Amino acid sequence: MAAAYELRCRECGKRCENAPLSICEECFSPLEVVCDLDAARPAFTREAIAAGPSSMWRYQALLPVPDDYVPATPAGWTPLLKAPRLARNIGARNLWIKNDAVCLPTLSFKDRVVSVALANAQAFGFDTVGCSSTGNLANAVAAQAARLGLKTYILVPADLEPAKILNTQVYGANLVRIDGNYDHVNRLCSQIAERYSWGFVNVNLRPYYAEGSKTVGFEIAEQLGWRLPDNVVVPMAGGSLITKIRKAFKELIALGLVEDKPVRFFGAQATGCSPITTAVKTGADHIEPQRPATIARSLAIGNPADGVYAARAIRESGGWAEDVSDVEIVSAIQELAETEGIFTETAGGVTTAVTARLYAHGRIHPDELTVTCITGNGLKTTDALTGAYEQQAAIRPRLGDFENFIAEQSEEDELVLGGSFVR
Ligand SMILES: *Cc1c(COP(=O)(O)O)cnc(C)c1O
Ligand SMILES: [Zn+2]
Repeated sequence: MAAAYELRCRECGKRCENAPLSICEECFSPLEVVCDLDAARPAFTREAIAAGPSSMWRYQALLPVPDDYVPATPAGWTPLLKAPRLARNIGARNLWIKNDAVCLPTLSFKDRVVSVALANAQAFGFDTVGCSSTGNLANAVAAQAARLGLKTYILVPADLEPAKILNTQVYGANLVRIDGNYDHVNRLCSQIAERYSWGFVNVNLRPYYAEGSKTVGFEIAEQLGWRLPDNVVVPMAGGSLITKIRKAFKELIALGLVEDKPVRFFGAQATGCSPITTAVKTGADHIEPQRPATIARSLAIGNPADGVYAARAIRESGGWAEDVSDVEIVSAIQELAETEGIFTETAGGVTTAVTARLYAHGRIHPDELTVTCITGNGLKTTDALTGAYEQQAAIRPRLGDFENFIAEQSEEDELVLGGSFVR
């Protein structure tokens, strides 16, 4: 085998050479990258990883990129933080946050998947790349393609948050707003990728793209001191991230870097777009597509490509899935910010609210080590908080005015019931 990785069909197992391809030609099921663990073994030790860069590229030996690949962008390696104040609020005692709200370069976990996808776009010789996106992917592709000097076409639903649109255009990408939802956009991208010879990171490069998500799992284990947690709570859009964190843990176990132990996976969605949580709750082995209606736009995929695999992974692991309302999402954004100083976007509101619900319903025991994945930054979805805070009238720069101000404020504080969040 020339490369230490290849494509394999998830259903019929057919193996194929590396190519910009995401569907099995025999049975039309999705293709997945399989890395040769034995080939990776010498370069994938705790010591070698610790000596590597402070980025997701410390795990390069288990990522599908050419041997001599030199990364252009130091994405990933985000903080894993203990969250005692949020924990106290929601009845947890050993809660941790994997904080990809500060993932570089574009403040979401999508920087990880795009790094791997664009490495492959270059290896396959594409000069133009693109994606269909609910926002964060658009930002990540635009930024990283700019750095690599690739031409970029990015297709998004027209109703995307203004910050995510601007965050794409600023990098000089060709942004195409589509009058339709993500599922319409995605279908069009498949047609474009076929017609023009372009690399679409989440269409024809999807198997490579998806492997980038493994680095969230690798980092969690390494940052816990090469241990696996008991539970992981993960937001789901297409359903890829949750399956790849699980794959990362399995690879670490197979290579002997962590002790084998069961980890339960919990999926989070917004009720307004909950095809995967619905499948988990009803026990269905297929996904019933939905028409999204939620403020959590980054998770608003009504017909998720990896939905079946996500639901399966959750069930097999003994986990569960929950979905929460838009009101709960906003409240959870505020709760996470007020307790832990982390400002997340709507997807992180979903994950936080679902985490609270899982403890409240006894799905997670308070003493178990639980990691909740915050995947995007709140500065991109400030519209979700429109009207949440009053702007005080300006006061004169005088001590007396300030004293009057705090006197009035403490009266108001007494009227508020204090620290209550919507559950
Ligand atoms: C894309 C995205 C997800 C979900 O990713 P999938 O792999 O498609 O399930 C979660 N959070 C944020 C902020 C995202 O942008
Ligand atoms: Zn097949």
